[in-house]
Amino acid sequence: MSTHILIVEDEEDIARLIARTLEKEGIKSTIVTNLAQAQGFLTRQEPDLIILDLMLPDGDGLDLCKELRFREEKEIPVVVVTAKGEEVDRILGFEMGADDYIVKPFSPRELLLRIKAILRRLQKPPEPSQILKFEFLEIDPHKIQVRIKGESVKLTRTEFNLLLALAEARGKVLSREVLLDKVWGYTFEGYARTVDTHIRRLRKKLGPAAKFIETVWGIGYRFRS
Ligand code: CA
Repeated sequence: MSTHILIVEDEEDIARLIARTLEKEGIKSTIVTNLAQAQGFLTRQEPDLIILDLMLPDGDGLDLCKELRFREEKEIPVVVVTAKGEEVDRILGFEMGADDYIVKPFSPRELLLRIKAILRRLQKPPEPSQILKFEFLEIDPHKIQVRIKGESVKLTRTEFNLLLALAEARGKVLSREVLLDKVWGYTFEGYARTVDTHIRRLRKKLGPAAKFIETVWGIGYRFRS
């Protein structure tokens, strides 16, 4: 099945540039120019990924991001495209659940690299390994499931991969760069904060199991079992 990406962007030039870049790679895309159209599209079809502009004529792209996080269906990764550097703080600060972001103006090549990394990460079948158990925390790499005291916890794929990477390397400190590379599939200078944001979100969801993830100041994170 071919990959299909939804582009939500009201600036025609940018939308077309993205679509052309994807097309060269054999990736199909659909362009919509506002939130209402995006929502309409999502009731009919399930894209593999969404490229989302934040400032749309009928509202804020982050609202769509939030809605997507509450969907019961398959998780759709979101790459936020933002005009200003300051908006990155909003994306990270409000923890809306974007998988990645890119600041305008960006090179199509960089965007493509991000998209490919996300798609690769989603399509990669989990390596056969056993359920990891730490006291009351269970991580099942096959089912991509986490249970705390027997209760299933809903994590995004990125959060799950982050937890798994840390748990598999338990006892060892993993730097933000190593985590970016392991979980996101690339390392970019200045994107270490992405790791921190996802760790924060992950800890919140883990509740009592958050104690396993230890911050090692100035270096990164360690799973303590
Ligand atoms: Ca816009």
